Amino acid sequence: MNKENKSKIKNNETFEKFNQKNDIFNRSLWDKTVRSKKTEKFYNDYTKPPESENRPEGYKHKDYAFRNATWFMSDTFSNIHKNNGRAEGFTDEFKVQKPGTKSKYIFKSNKDLTDEIKIIAKKLGADLVGITKSNPKWIYSHKYRRATDEVKPNKIDSSLNRVIVIANQMDKDLIDTAPSALSGSATGLGYSNDLTTILSLSQYIINLGYKAVPSQNDTALSIPLAIEAGLGEYARNGLLITKKFGPRVRISKIFTDLPLECDKPISFGVKNYCSICNKCADSCPPRAISFDKPSFKQINKSNIKGIKKWSVDAEKCFKFWASQSTDCSICIRVCPYNKDFDKLTHKIGIKLANTPFRYILIKLDNFFGNRKKPSEWWANK
Ligand code: SF4
Ligand code: SF4
Repeated sequence: MNKENKSKIKNNETFEKFNQKNDIFNRSLWDKTVRSKKTEKFYNDYTKPPESENRPEGYKHKDYAFRNATWFMSDTFSNIHKNNGRAEGFTDEFKVQKPGTKSKYIFKSNKDLTDEIKIIAKKLGADLVGITKSNPKWIYSHKYRRATDEVKPNKIDSSLNRVIVIANQMDKDLIDTAPSALSGSATGLGYSNDLTTILSLSQYIINLGYKAVPSQNDTALSIPLAIEAGLGEYARNGLLITKKFGPRVRISKIFTDLPLECDKPISFGVKNYCSICNKCADSCPPRAISFDKPSFKQINKSNIKGIKKWSVDAEKCFKFWASQSTDCSICIRVCPYNKDFDKLTHKIGIKLANTPFRYILIKLDNFFGNRKKPSEWWANK
């Protein structure tokens, strides 16, 4: 065997499409190495908030009551076809749209159509919109049915060859309280707000006589599609970093047959910045974020195989979430790109991050960005 082949095997370089069964949330249901009593409590607390006040700040009755309320819309829609074993938005695409017209509305040009879809998406609540091809690489190889523990090949209509990728910002003040159940409200709000945008935009497309399949975590990996749609760059913390909101976004998508024009990937210095900044890795309590260079290493089965990148140890990350009975956004809160880029100083900062001045910026950033106390949030909301 020659040297190159040996190194390919060592690096696990052979690409394999991701099987949804190996998503860490699905594994927390079927995999005994992930599932524990803490996992059950973690999920139960989303159904019924813990009532005790004898808990640390940010993890009290009202914090959980609010967090769970932010998930209400997402929970309601994900359970809409629960009797058929579907968890829409999580393991299955949404199937709630009304029928549209038989004839297709004809646009003047594909450019006009693309511009208009982006404007309508923003009217319906999208903060960022990009278009890309439906790259089969990122479509899950298999779908997982939680209720019955079934795995089935993931079939997607081949005419849905465009993806409208949407990123919505998460609430900065809430994220600033991470880790806490209170900060988990930013996640719940993100999921629930995304729904309004993708369900309404899909209905608009269907009303014009075209096909639209709204999707959140189901069907395909959102981050690589968002990168290909030009919404941002991949980062050490395993997240998308956008120019406007940094890593503080939630991503959703719509598969469609509209003949949209595609955007191109962008680069604004994130890769170089992450290569000298380890703030997320340093701040991650269970050390789930790598300090190493991007590699093909598959830490466990929840990492996609054969892509050279920074990988996060989802087992460590999820076990930490379960131990504190809520999700954690520390790696979003501490990231130097988690700024309000409407402010002039931060606008200048993001430009400098793409130059050798990034070394000074990293030092400066360590003086800022401390956690906000949940009691402060409640006092000043
Ligand atoms: S969410 Fe929390 S535990 Fe998970 S990788 Fe980020 S900092 Fe670490
Ligand atoms: S904290 Fe630093 S290393 Fe981590 S994602 Fe943000 S910029 Fe990259």
